[in-house]
Amino acid sequence: MRAAVWHGKRDVRVDNVPDPEILNPRDAIVKITSTAICGSDLHLYNGFVPTMEKGDILGHEFMGEIVELGSGVTNLKVGDRVVVPFPIACGNCFFCNEKLYSVCENSNPNAAMAEKMWGHSPAGIFGYSHLTGGYAGGQAEYVRVPYADVGPIKVPDGLTDDQVLFLSDILPTGYMAAEACDIKPGSVVAVWGCGPVGQFAIQSAYLLGAERVIAIDRFPERLRMAREVSKAITLDYEEVDISAALKEMTGGRGPDACIDAVGMEAHGMGMMGAYDRVKQAMMNETDRPVALRQALMSCRNGGVVSIPGVYGGFLDKVPFGTVMNRSLTIRTGQTHVQRYMRPLLERIQKGEIDPAVIITHHMSLEDAPHGYDIFCNKADECIKIVMKP
Ligand code: NAD
Ligand code: ZN
Ligand code: ZN
Repeated sequence: MRAAVWHGKRDVRVDNVPDPEILNPRDAIVKITSTAICGSDLHLYNGFVPTMEKGDILGHEFMGEIVELGSGVTNLKVGDRVVVPFPIACGNCFFCNEKLYSVCENSNPNAAMAEKMWGHSPAGIFGYSHLTGGYAGGQAEYVRVPYADVGPIKVPDGLTDDQVLFLSDILPTGYMAAEACDIKPGSVVAVWGCGPVGQFAIQSAYLLGAERVIAIDRFPERLRMAREVSKAITLDYEEVDISAALKEMTGGRGPDACIDAVGMEAHGMGMMGAYDRVKQAMMNETDRPVALRQALMSCRNGGVVSIPGVYGGFLDKVPFGTVMNRSLTIRTGQTHVQRYMRPLLERIQKGEIDPAVIITHHMSLEDAPHGYDIFCNKADECIKIVMKP
Protein backbone atom coordinates (compact mmCIF):
# COMPACT_ATOMS: atom_id res chain seq x y z
CA MET A 1 0.00 0.00 0.00
CA ARG A 2 0.95 3.67 -0.18
CA ALA A 3 1.74 5.58 3.02
CA ALA A 4 3.29 8.85 4.21
CA VAL A 5 6.60 7.83 5.73
CA TRP A 6 9.03 9.74 7.97
CA HIS A 7 12.57 9.72 6.57
CA GLY A 8 14.14 12.35 8.82
CA LYS A 9 13.82 15.97 9.73
CA ARG A 10 11.53 17.74 7.19
CA ASP A 11 11.64 14.68 4.94
CA VAL A 12 8.29 12.95 4.43
CA ARG A 13 7.84 10.70 1.40
CA VAL A 14 4.99 8.59 0.09
CA ASP A 15 6.35 5.06 -0.18
CA ASN A 16 5.18 1.55 -0.96
CA VAL A 17 5.02 -0.35 2.34
CA PRO A 18 3.58 -3.73 3.38
CA ASP A 19 -0.17 -3.87 4.03
CA PRO A 20 -1.12 -4.14 7.70
CA GLU A 21 -2.42 -7.45 9.03
CA ILE A 22 -4.58 -8.52 11.94
CA LEU A 23 -2.20 -9.42 14.79
CA ASN A 24 -4.60 -9.72 17.72
CA PRO A 25 -8.25 -10.77 18.09
CA ARG A 26 -9.29 -7.21 19.03
CA ASP A 27 -7.70 -5.65 15.90
CA ALA A 28 -9.45 -4.19 12.89
CA ILE A 29 -8.07 -3.20 9.52
CA VAL A 30 -9.49 0.12 8.31
CA LYS A 31 -9.35 1.25 4.68
CA ILE A 32 -8.69 4.97 5.01
CA THR A 33 -11.09 7.36 3.28
CA SER A 34 -9.80 10.62 4.86
CA THR A 35 -6.79 11.56 6.96
CA ALA A 36 -5.42 14.88 8.18
CA ILE A 37 -2.11 16.42 9.14
CA CYS A 38 -2.03 17.64 12.75
CA GLY A 39 0.07 20.30 14.47
CA SER A 40 1.45 17.40 16.51
CA ASP A 41 2.77 15.83 13.29
CA LEU A 42 4.83 18.98 12.80
CA HIS A 43 6.77 18.20 15.98
CA LEU A 44 7.77 14.89 14.33
CA TYR A 45 8.40 16.59 10.99
CA ASN A 46 10.70 19.15 12.58
CA GLY A 47 12.59 16.44 14.47
CA PHE A 48 11.63 17.46 18.03
CA VAL A 49 10.19 14.13 19.11
CA PRO A 50 12.87 11.56 19.89
CA THR A 51 12.70 7.87 18.84
CA MET A 52 11.31 8.43 15.34
CA GLU A 53 12.83 5.95 12.91
CA LYS A 54 13.29 6.14 9.16
CA GLY A 55 10.37 4.23 7.68
CA ASP A 56 7.80 5.06 10.38
CA ILE A 57 4.30 5.57 8.93
CA LEU A 58 2.79 8.89 10.04
CA GLY A 59 -0.74 9.96 10.89
CA HIS A 60 -3.11 9.86 13.83
CA GLU A 61 -6.20 11.65 12.48
CA PHE A 62 -8.06 9.27 10.19
CA MET A 63 -11.31 7.52 9.36
CA GLY A 64 -12.46 4.91 6.93
CA GLU A 65 -14.20 1.63 6.31
CA ILE A 66 -13.67 -1.60 8.24
CA VAL A 67 -12.36 -4.22 5.82
CA GLU A 68 -11.25 -6.93 8.24
CA LEU A 69 -11.95 -7.76 11.87
CA GLY A 70 -10.32 -9.93 14.50
CA SER A 71 -12.47 -12.56 16.16
CA GLY A 72 -12.70 -10.52 19.38
CA VAL A 73 -14.46 -7.50 17.89
CA THR A 74 -18.19 -8.12 17.98
CA ASN A 75 -19.59 -4.58 18.02
CA LEU A 76 -18.44 -3.70 14.48
CA LYS A 77 -19.00 -5.25 11.05
CA VAL A 78 -16.99 -5.29 7.86
CA GLY A 79 -18.26 -2.34 5.83
CA ASP A 80 -18.89 -0.06 8.84
CA ARG A 81 -17.69 3.50 8.44
CA VAL A 82 -15.72 4.60 11.51
CA VAL A 83 -13.69 7.46 12.97
CA VAL A 84 -10.72 6.28 15.03
CA PRO A 85 -9.47 8.18 18.12
CA PHE A 86 -5.72 8.89 18.17
CA PRO A 87 -4.86 7.44 21.60
CA ILE A 88 -4.93 3.65 21.65
CA ALA A 89 -6.79 2.43 24.73
CA CYS A 90 -7.74 -1.02 26.02
CA GLY A 91 -10.99 0.03 27.68
CA ASN A 92 -10.45 -2.18 30.74
CA CYS A 93 -7.49 -0.93 32.78
CA PHE A 94 -7.51 1.38 35.82
CA PHE A 95 -7.03 4.47 33.67
CA CYS A 96 -9.55 3.51 30.98
CA ASN A 97 -12.10 2.92 33.73
CA GLU A 98 -11.39 6.47 34.93
CA LYS A 99 -11.92 7.62 31.29
CA LEU A 100 -8.27 8.70 31.15
CA TYR A 101 -7.83 6.94 27.82
CA SER A 102 -4.67 8.72 26.70
CA VAL A 103 -2.83 7.20 29.65
CA CYS A 104 -4.12 3.64 29.19
CA GLU A 105 -1.62 1.32 30.81
CA ASN A 106 -1.95 -1.53 28.32
CA SER A 107 -1.42 0.04 24.92
CA ASN A 108 2.21 1.13 24.89
CA PRO A 109 4.51 -1.82 24.18
CA ASN A 110 7.49 0.55 24.67
CA ALA A 111 6.41 1.65 28.14
CA ALA A 112 9.92 1.10 29.52
CA MET A 113 11.28 3.67 27.06
CA ALA A 114 8.61 6.21 28.02
CA GLU A 115 9.21 5.61 31.74
CA LYS A 116 12.86 6.67 31.32
CA MET A 117 11.75 9.96 29.79
CA TRP A 118 8.58 10.74 31.74
CA GLY A 119 8.64 8.58 34.90
CA HIS A 120 5.54 6.67 33.84
CA SER A 121 4.22 5.71 30.42
CA PRO A 122 1.21 7.18 28.62
CA ALA A 123 -0.92 5.22 26.14
CA GLY A 124 0.19 4.22 22.67
CA ILE A 125 -0.60 6.67 19.87
CA PHE A 126 -0.89 5.97 16.14
CA GLY A 127 2.07 7.18 14.09
CA TYR A 128 3.70 9.06 16.93
CA SER A 129 7.23 7.78 17.56
CA HIS A 130 8.47 4.70 19.36
CA LEU A 131 8.08 6.39 22.76
CA THR A 132 4.33 5.97 22.32
CA GLY A 133 4.40 2.49 20.89
CA GLY A 134 5.83 2.68 17.38
CA TYR A 135 2.38 2.04 15.87
CA ALA A 136 1.97 2.58 12.14
CA GLY A 137 -0.18 5.65 11.48
CA GLY A 138 -3.16 6.35 9.27
CA GLN A 139 -1.74 8.63 6.58
CA ALA A 140 -1.91 5.52 4.46
CA GLU A 141 -4.30 3.40 2.44
CA TYR A 142 -4.89 1.00 5.34
CA VAL A 143 -4.17 0.92 9.06
CA ARG A 144 -4.31 -1.68 11.82
CA VAL A 145 -6.45 -0.49 14.73
CA PRO A 146 -5.82 -2.31 18.02
CA TYR A 147 -8.63 -2.52 20.62
CA ALA A 148 -11.06 -1.80 17.79
CA ASP A 149 -13.96 -2.76 20.05
CA VAL A 150 -13.22 0.29 22.26
CA GLY A 151 -12.07 3.28 20.21
CA PRO A 152 -13.68 3.63 16.78
CA ILE A 153 -17.19 5.04 16.54
CA LYS A 154 -19.60 4.33 13.73
CA VAL A 155 -20.55 7.31 11.61
CA PRO A 156 -24.30 7.74 11.14
CA ASP A 157 -25.53 7.99 7.54
CA GLY A 158 -25.77 11.43 6.04
CA LEU A 159 -22.58 12.90 7.51
CA THR A 160 -19.61 13.56 5.26
CA ASP A 161 -16.00 12.64 6.10
CA ASP A 162 -15.16 16.34 6.49
CA GLN A 163 -17.89 16.77 9.10
CA VAL A 164 -16.70 13.94 11.36
CA LEU A 165 -12.98 13.35 10.67
CA PHE A 166 -11.82 15.74 13.39
CA LEU A 167 -13.59 13.71 16.07
CA SER A 168 -10.37 11.66 15.89
CA ASP A 169 -8.36 14.40 17.60
CA ILE A 170 -8.55 18.17 17.25
CA LEU A 171 -12.25 18.72 17.95
CA PRO A 172 -12.12 16.78 21.25
CA THR A 173 -8.75 18.44 21.94
CA GLY A 174 -10.14 21.96 21.63
CA TYR A 175 -13.18 20.92 23.62
CA MET A 176 -11.24 19.27 26.45
CA ALA A 177 -9.01 22.34 26.64
CA ALA A 178 -12.07 24.58 27.07
CA GLU A 179 -13.80 22.20 29.46
CA ALA A 180 -10.71 22.35 31.68
CA CYS A 181 -11.25 26.12 32.07
CA ASP A 182 -14.16 25.89 34.56
CA ILE A 183 -16.10 28.36 32.40
CA LYS A 184 -18.91 30.25 34.15
CA PRO A 185 -21.24 32.98 32.91
CA GLY A 186 -19.09 36.06 32.43
CA SER A 187 -15.85 34.12 31.95
CA VAL A 188 -13.14 35.60 29.76
CA VAL A 189 -10.87 33.04 28.10
CA ALA A 190 -7.64 33.83 26.24
CA VAL A 191 -6.37 31.37 23.64
CA TRP A 192 -2.78 31.38 22.37
CA GLY A 193 -2.56 29.92 18.85
CA CYS A 194 -5.25 30.13 16.14
CA GLY A 195 -4.39 26.86 14.44
CA PRO A 196 -6.97 24.07 14.24
CA VAL A 197 -6.73 23.33 17.97
CA GLY A 198 -7.01 27.01 18.87
CA GLN A 199 -10.07 27.45 16.62
CA PHE A 200 -11.89 24.55 18.27
CA ALA A 201 -10.82 25.73 21.73
CA ILE A 202 -12.37 29.15 20.98
CA GLN A 203 -15.58 27.63 19.61
CA SER A 204 -15.84 25.20 22.52
CA ALA A 205 -15.29 27.96 25.09
CA TYR A 206 -18.32 29.77 23.62
CA LEU A 207 -20.35 26.53 23.55
CA LEU A 208 -19.55 26.12 27.26
CA GLY A 209 -20.76 29.63 28.03
CA ALA A 210 -17.75 31.96 27.91
CA GLU A 211 -18.67 35.61 27.60
CA ARG A 212 -15.59 36.66 25.66
CA VAL A 213 -12.76 34.74 24.02
CA ILE A 214 -9.58 36.58 23.10
CA ALA A 215 -7.38 34.80 20.55
CA ILE A 216 -3.70 35.40 19.87
CA ASP A 217 -1.58 34.61 16.78
CA ARG A 218 0.33 36.47 14.09
CA PHE A 219 -0.91 35.03 10.76
CA PRO A 220 -3.66 37.24 9.29
CA GLU A 221 -5.67 34.35 7.81
CA ARG A 222 -5.67 32.50 11.15
CA LEU A 223 -6.65 35.63 13.07
CA ARG A 224 -9.36 36.26 10.46
CA MET A 225 -10.76 32.75 10.93
CA ALA A 226 -10.65 33.24 14.71
CA ARG A 227 -12.69 36.43 14.30
CA GLU A 228 -15.07 35.57 11.51
CA VAL A 229 -15.68 31.86 12.04
CA SER A 230 -14.87 31.24 15.69
CA LYS A 231 -16.10 34.70 16.85
CA ALA A 232 -13.12 35.63 19.01
CA ILE A 233 -11.64 39.06 19.62
CA THR A 234 -8.12 38.84 18.19
CA LEU A 235 -4.68 40.13 19.10
CA ASP A 236 -1.61 40.01 16.86
CA TYR A 237 1.36 39.38 19.13
CA GLU A 238 3.70 41.06 16.66
CA GLU A 239 1.73 44.26 17.08
CA VAL A 240 0.75 44.46 20.73
CA ASP A 241 2.22 43.54 24.10
CA ILE A 242 -0.01 40.59 24.91
CA SER A 243 0.18 40.68 28.69
CA ALA A 244 -0.52 44.41 28.77
CA ALA A 245 -3.38 44.12 26.27
CA LEU A 246 -5.02 41.29 28.21
CA LYS A 247 -4.79 43.27 31.44
CA GLU A 248 -6.36 46.25 29.81
CA MET A 249 -9.19 44.17 28.34
CA THR A 250 -10.04 42.61 31.70
CA GLY A 251 -10.08 45.59 34.04
CA GLY A 252 -6.52 44.92 35.15
CA ARG A 253 -7.31 41.46 36.48
CA GLY A 254 -6.37 39.09 33.63
CA PRO A 255 -8.41 36.44 31.80
CA ASP A 256 -10.22 33.86 33.98
CA ALA A 257 -8.59 31.10 31.97
CA CYS A 258 -5.74 30.88 29.48
CA ILE A 259 -5.36 28.15 26.87
CA ASP A 260 -1.96 27.36 25.35
CA ALA A 261 -2.85 25.89 21.94
CA VAL A 262 0.67 26.48 20.62
CA GLY A 263 2.97 23.95 22.29
CA MET A 264 6.65 23.22 22.08
CA GLU A 265 7.50 25.01 18.84
CA ALA A 266 6.22 28.45 19.75
CA HIS A 267 7.56 31.35 17.77
CA GLY A 268 9.27 33.83 20.06
CA MET A 269 10.40 37.35 19.63
CA GLY A 270 13.10 39.44 21.24
CA MET A 271 15.61 38.18 23.79
CA MET A 272 13.56 35.27 25.15
CA GLY A 273 12.68 34.09 21.62
CA ALA A 274 16.34 34.02 20.60
CA TYR A 275 17.28 32.33 23.89
CA ASP A 276 14.87 29.43 23.28
CA ARG A 277 15.83 28.97 19.62
CA VAL A 278 19.51 28.74 20.49
CA LYS A 279 19.01 26.46 23.50
CA GLN A 280 16.70 24.15 21.56
CA ALA A 281 19.07 24.00 18.59
CA MET A 282 21.96 23.11 20.93
CA MET A 283 19.78 20.41 22.55
CA ASN A 284 19.98 22.25 25.88
CA GLU A 285 16.24 22.65 25.97
CA THR A 286 13.63 20.33 24.50
CA ASP A 287 10.83 22.83 24.05
CA ARG A 288 10.27 26.54 23.39
CA PRO A 289 7.65 27.48 25.97
CA VAL A 290 7.05 31.06 24.82
CA ALA A 291 3.26 30.94 24.80
CA LEU A 292 3.16 28.94 28.02
CA ARG A 293 5.20 31.55 29.88
CA GLN A 294 2.87 34.29 28.67
CA ALA A 295 -0.25 32.30 29.55
CA LEU A 296 1.03 31.66 33.07
CA MET A 297 1.95 35.31 33.62
CA SER A 298 -1.30 36.66 32.11
CA CYS A 299 -3.91 34.49 33.83
CA ARG A 300 -5.85 36.10 36.66
CA ASN A 301 -5.19 35.08 40.26
CA GLY A 302 -6.78 31.72 41.00
CA GLY A 303 -7.43 31.08 37.29
CA VAL A 304 -6.86 28.03 35.11
CA VAL A 305 -4.10 27.56 32.56
CA SER A 306 -5.19 24.80 30.20
CA ILE A 307 -2.50 23.33 27.97
CA PRO A 308 -3.54 21.27 24.95
CA GLY A 309 -0.28 22.28 23.21
CA VAL A 310 2.17 19.38 23.17
CA TYR A 311 5.38 19.53 25.21
CA GLY A 312 8.05 16.87 25.03
CA GLY A 313 10.58 17.17 27.78
CA PHE A 314 12.30 19.65 30.03
CA LEU A 315 11.22 23.27 29.86
CA ASP A 316 13.42 26.20 30.68
CA LYS A 317 12.57 29.47 32.44
CA VAL A 318 8.98 28.51 33.16
CA PRO A 319 7.77 30.94 35.85
CA PHE A 320 6.55 28.41 38.36
CA GLY A 321 6.58 31.01 41.12
CA THR A 322 3.63 32.72 39.50
CA VAL A 323 1.70 29.44 39.53
CA MET A 324 2.29 28.85 43.24
CA ASN A 325 1.99 32.38 44.57
CA ARG A 326 -1.10 33.25 42.54
CA SER A 327 -2.98 29.98 43.09
CA LEU A 328 -3.14 29.00 39.41
CA THR A 329 -4.43 25.60 38.34
CA ILE A 330 -2.71 23.86 35.43
CA ARG A 331 -4.60 21.24 33.42
CA THR A 332 -3.12 19.42 30.46
CA GLY A 333 -2.79 16.06 28.72
CA GLN A 334 -3.01 14.24 25.46
CA THR A 335 -6.73 14.30 24.85
CA HIS A 336 -8.91 11.50 26.23
CA VAL A 337 -10.59 11.43 22.83
CA GLN A 338 -12.79 8.36 23.46
CA ARG A 339 -14.56 10.32 26.23
CA TYR A 340 -15.71 13.08 23.85
CA MET A 341 -16.46 11.41 20.52
CA ARG A 342 -20.11 10.56 21.10
CA PRO A 343 -21.21 13.81 22.78
CA LEU A 344 -19.39 15.85 20.13
CA LEU A 345 -20.87 13.75 17.32
CA GLU A 346 -24.28 14.65 18.75
CA ARG A 347 -23.37 18.34 18.72
CA ILE A 348 -22.33 18.00 15.06
CA GLN A 349 -25.63 16.29 14.22
CA LYS A 350 -27.57 19.06 15.99
CA GLY A 351 -25.64 21.67 14.03
CA GLU A 352 -24.08 23.20 17.16
CA ILE A 353 -20.62 22.84 15.72
CA ASP A 354 -19.37 22.36 12.15
CA PRO A 355 -15.79 21.08 12.21
CA ALA A 356 -15.44 21.26 8.40
CA VAL A 357 -15.24 25.06 8.51
CA ILE A 358 -11.54 25.00 9.34
CA ILE A 359 -10.49 22.94 6.29
CA THR A 360 -8.52 25.06 3.82
CA HIS A 361 -6.97 22.31 1.66
CA HIS A 362 -8.00 18.95 0.23
CA MET A 363 -5.34 16.88 -1.48
CA SER A 364 -4.32 13.38 -2.43
CA LEU A 365 -2.22 11.33 -0.01
CA GLU A 366 0.35 11.31 -2.81
CA ASP A 367 0.84 15.05 -2.12
CA ALA A 368 1.65 14.56 1.57
CA PRO A 369 5.20 15.97 1.21
CA HIS A 370 3.75 19.18 -0.20
CA GLY A 371 1.06 19.19 2.48
CA TYR A 372 3.61 18.92 5.29
CA ASP A 373 5.65 21.69 3.72
CA ILE A 374 2.83 24.24 3.42
CA PHE A 375 1.21 23.38 6.77
CA CYS A 376 4.56 23.63 8.54
CA ASN A 377 5.46 26.93 6.92
CA LYS A 378 1.92 28.31 7.22
CA ALA A 379 2.17 28.93 3.46
CA ASP A 380 -0.71 29.28 1.00
CA GLU A 381 -2.93 30.40 3.95
CA CYS A 382 -3.00 26.74 4.98
CA ILE A 383 -4.86 26.03 8.22
CA LYS A 384 -6.02 22.40 7.90
CA ILE A 385 -5.34 19.76 5.25
CA VAL A 386 -7.46 16.70 4.57
CA MET A 387 -5.91 14.01 2.36
CA LYS A 388 -7.52 11.10 0.56
CA PRO A 389 -5.61 8.00 -0.54
P1 NAD B 1 -0.63 24.70 14.33
O1 NAD B 1 0.83 24.63 14.14
O2 NAD B 1 -1.48 24.78 13.10
O3 NAD B 1 -1.00 25.98 15.21
C1 NAD B 1 -0.16 26.59 16.14
C2 NAD B 1 -0.44 28.09 16.08
O4 NAD B 1 0.29 28.73 17.14
C3 NAD B 1 0.02 28.73 14.78
O5 NAD B 1 -1.06 29.41 14.18
C4 NAD B 1 1.13 29.67 15.21
O6 NAD B 1 1.23 30.85 14.44
C5 NAD B 1 0.73 29.99 16.65
N1 NAD B 1 1.83 30.48 17.49
C6 NAD B 1 3.15 30.17 17.43
N2 NAD B 1 3.85 30.85 18.36
C7 NAD B 1 2.93 31.60 19.04
C8 NAD B 1 3.03 32.51 20.12
N3 NAD B 1 4.20 32.78 20.69
N4 NAD B 1 1.89 33.12 20.56
C9 NAD B 1 0.68 32.86 19.98
N5 NAD B 1 0.54 31.99 18.94
C10 NAD B 1 1.65 31.38 18.48
O7 NAD B 1 -1.03 23.46 15.23
P2 NAD B 1 -2.42 22.86 15.81
O8 NAD B 1 -2.80 21.70 14.98
O9 NAD B 1 -3.42 23.92 16.05
O10 NAD B 1 -1.88 22.30 17.19
C11 NAD B 1 -1.51 23.17 18.24
C12 NAD B 1 -0.81 22.42 19.35
O11 NAD B 1 -1.73 21.47 19.91
C13 NAD B 1 0.41 21.62 18.91
O12 NAD B 1 1.40 21.66 19.92
C14 NAD B 1 -0.13 20.21 18.81
O13 NAD B 1 0.90 19.26 18.99
C15 NAD B 1 -1.09 20.21 19.97
N6 NAD B 1 -2.10 19.14 19.97
C16 NAD B 1 -2.32 18.52 21.14
C17 NAD B 1 -3.25 17.53 21.24
C18 NAD B 1 -3.53 16.89 22.57
O14 NAD B 1 -4.00 15.77 22.62
N7 NAD B 1 -3.28 17.58 23.67
C19 NAD B 1 -3.95 17.14 20.11
C20 NAD B 1 -3.72 17.80 18.90
C21 NAD B 1 -2.78 18.80 18.83
ZN1 ZN C 1 -3.09 15.43 16.63
ZN1 ZN D 1 -6.57 0.87 29.24
